[in-house]
Amino acid sequence: MNFDWERLADRVFRCRLPFLDVTIGLVWGPGGALLIDTGTTLAEARAIGEDVDALTGTAVSRVLLTHHDFDHVLGVSAFTGAAVYCAPPVQQTMTRRRDEVRAEAVRYGADPSAVDEAMAAWRTPDRLVWSADIDLGDRAVAVRHPGRGHTDHDLIGVVTGAERTVVFCGDLVEESGDPVIDAHSDPAAWPATLDRVLELGGPDAVYVPGHGAAVDAAFVRRQQRWLVER
Ligand SMILES: [Zn+2]
Repeated sequence: MNFDWERLADRVFRCRLPFLDVTIGLVWGPGGALLIDTGTTLAEARAIGEDVDALTGTAVSRVLLTHHDFDHVLGVSAFTGAAVYCAPPVQQTMTRRRDEVRAEAVRYGADPSAVDEAMAAWRTPDRLVWSADIDLGDRAVAVRHPGRGHTDHDLIGVVTGAERTVVFCGDLVEESGDPVIDAHSDPAAWPATLDRVLELGGPDAVYVPGHGAAVDAAFVRRQQRWLVER
């Protein structure tokens, strides 16, 4: 294995990439393997793909990109056989704000030539969606936009069919640091968006942040309070 994979439920896993501690989610069933977010470089993404093959016995067939930040999307083109789901603004960012994406990736320490390679390989995602139901056979993933928050287009993946519900939250929830509020964020709307996340996942779900350790509903409530009171 190239990375350490954490089991969240039966056939629901994730790893935390060494670069920026980004969560990569993985869910599989007889209907295929879904990857959630892809890392920054094609080399990182290829290493993820090797691990997926070893863990699941199959290649990644679908990819969900939670939002437009470079560390979540740039690896996507390594998964040539997969259908890619993301919100329409991700495609807009990658076509209209490429210089900004590149500059941000380099500022965070990504190798400029690896970033250029990944950006040159970008192709329009197959499914530009705000909502989708992905059927993997005995695992279902409800892709939803619970509202504005870290960006104006964050998507979450609510996984059911295993012994517990697992919610991949993207950067709407962060554990290893405070939530990142930048020019694309809507801090006023974010708390209500977390209400919707908690509604979709329920009180007993595992909530998986974009960065950091998996948490419970009580942690998400605390982060919501932090956003209100900050
Ligand atoms: Zn992130």
